[in-house]
Amino acid sequence: MPKIKAHWQILIALILAAVVGFILQETLPGAGEEPNLANSVLSVCRFVGELFLSALKMVIVPLVVASIVLGVGSLGTMEGFGRLGLKTVSFYACSSLIAILIGLTVVNTLKPGLEDGEPNARIAKMIEDQKGEEDAATAEKVRGAKERGLTDVLDIFKRMIPVNVISAAAQGQMLGLIFFSILFGAAMTRMTTTDRTVMVDFFSGLNDIMITITHWVMWFAPVGVFGLVTPVVASAGIEVFGTMAKYFLVVLLALGLHFLVALPLLLKFVGRVNPFRHYMAMRAALLTAFSTASSSATLPITMRCVRDEAGVSRRVSSFVLPLGATVNMDGTALYECVAVIFVSQVLGWDLPFTQQFLVVLLALLTSIGVAGIPSASLVAIVIILGSVGFSEAETVAAMAVLLTVDRFLDMCRTAVNVFSDSCGAVVIARTEGEEGVLAARRKE
Ligand code: ASP
Repeated sequence: MPKIKAHWQILIALILAAVVGFILQETLPGAGEEPNLANSVLSVCRFVGELFLSALKMVIVPLVVASIVLGVGSLGTMEGFGRLGLKTVSFYACSSLIAILIGLTVVNTLKPGLEDGEPNARIAKMIEDQKGEEDAATAEKVRGAKERGLTDVLDIFKRMIPVNVISAAAQGQMLGLIFFSILFGAAMTRMTTTDRTVMVDFFSGLNDIMITITHWVMWFAPVGVFGLVTPVVASAGIEVFGTMAKYFLVVLLALGLHFLVALPLLLKFVGRVNPFRHYMAMRAALLTAFSTASSSATLPITMRCVRDEAGVSRRVSSFVLPLGATVNMDGTALYECVAVIFVSQVLGWDLPFTQQFLVVLLALLTSIGVAGIPSASLVAIVIILGSVGFSEAETVAAMAVLLTVDRFLDMCRTAVNVFSDSCGAVVIARTEGEEGVLAARRKE
């Protein structure tokens, strides 16, 4: 039997999940009614989805450590590392800034928070109602972030130097882990050639093992994706969508402009790579990012696509991609900016230029620090709203309203985040003179 390619399998699973999700939504019991078969099916889906997500996450810590240590340690000289690091940071900073400026332009032009030039009264009322009956789950998330010490931008960066690297790994604090791995790799370049070879061989083996496990996990991707997406579709609130439709569409438009115009232009003119071929190469990773809403969980698949399909060397991808999955989030940065300006429009607060500049700066900084997990932008938006002067009650209420349409937007911005990382890898590989990227193009 001919083998169906991974991206087709995932796409079919997504379509099936949409169909089954809609059917389940129709058959779910109303409030106060006894749970029925639809509830049981959804529980099974959630269970399967969580297993798949955990299996992907399981690979991340050893994969990130092994590939960064290998990436930095096998560069041989600190000079090589410095050049690659500078290119990576510059590309990621530029692409995130472009994303934020697209978001800023679109939200200021289309003004989704206004209706006939006035703050949208229906959304303002939703926020006002939330203030009265504070949604416990949202409040908990917002305060939870505060309790974990995330009250401002600096807190996010304090985690860069972990007190205990093992507990940073256990808690999935990627920024700390990456910092430690870079130091470890850099220290390796100072060893004698014999000792360094032993270490490089070890981490190279570890890296290969993680990639093999990722292949195994991917066999279950269709089932996992079905399990993750069906409950999302089944619980999508159509009524809320009516009120928030303009906001929803504005976010999609801005993300679409970045994904379909800005990034391909960077690929074409900076990387001199055919953007269409690159979309094709990244299909499996994009669909997985969309389904999981987590760029960290997608990292193993992103690495596989960038190496095997786009033809980027291990030397470049080992360093650029794990870093990108943690610090480069174009979709997230764009979304944070649109969300904050939207809330200020709804609450009748016309943010002056200086405040908008602050929003841009904070969106850039917080997108570097937030984790690549579902709804991670929430923490960043809370921080930005607080910094531009909204009260805690307003912030919590606004977050509850934004969350009503968050999941689908999260799925889309995560796909943009992952695509931008992969563009970074391809462009940097080309500037390093890698012919492999072109070879992959010719082969197709
Ligand atoms: N879910 C996003 C990611 O993992 C982060 C976010 O925007 O919430 O990349």
